[in-house]
Amino acid sequence: MYLVAKMAKSSEAHLSLEDCMCPICCELLLEPVTLPCNHTLCNPCFQLTVEKANLCCPLCRQRVSTWARYHARNNTLIDRKLWDRVQKAYPEECQRRAAGQEEEKTVYTFHPPPKLSEPGELREEYEAQLNKAEAERQAREEEERKASEEYIQKLLAEEEEERELAELRRKEREEQFRLDEELARSLSDIERNHLSYLATKNFS
Ligand SMILES: [Zn+2]
Ligand SMILES: [Zn+2]
Repeated sequence: MYLVAKMAKSSEAHLSLEDCMCPICCELLLEPVTLPCNHTLCNPCFQLTVEKANLCCPLCRQRVSTWARYHARNNTLIDRKLWDRVQKAYPEECQRRAAGQEEEKTVYTFHPPPKLSEPGELREEYEAQLNKAEAERQAREEEERKASEEYIQKLLAEEEEERELAELRRKEREEQFRLDEELARSLSDIERNHLSYLATKNFS
């Protein structure tokens, strides 16, 4: 954490003991691992982080699965430069820490640097992640497809509704026209009857 920023400025700057502390276990940075987010933690903590916290940086939660897989395979997890400097600056503390680590009987071994896990395991995890991402992408696409389908259906329904309404209006107009004609016809009938009535009256 603080360490990395300081070190970036000068790789030869003096390391205080505080600089060499793992932010997770607050012990000496034993075989430090510097993550792509620039957070540094000791390898034992990294091992626990990888195994127990879903391959995220324990400080900022950035995912480091691909990075970890790559460096585990190439055996380049340890920040060698920093580790050399820590060992040079605090050799006794390093030995003590390493000895303590062995006493604790953790799965961790000091030499050679431990593997993260079997390549197959990482690969499986990686593939599981890929599969998960792919499934999520498909679900998202399916959702978008459904949404656009629903939208199209809605548009079609609205169009259909408009068409029906237009048809209804047309029928109403026709009906009105028919009624008008009928009225006109009956009016002229009445008129004709009236005229013929008048005619008969005149002749009688
Ligand atoms: Zn630690
Ligand atoms: Zn981080």
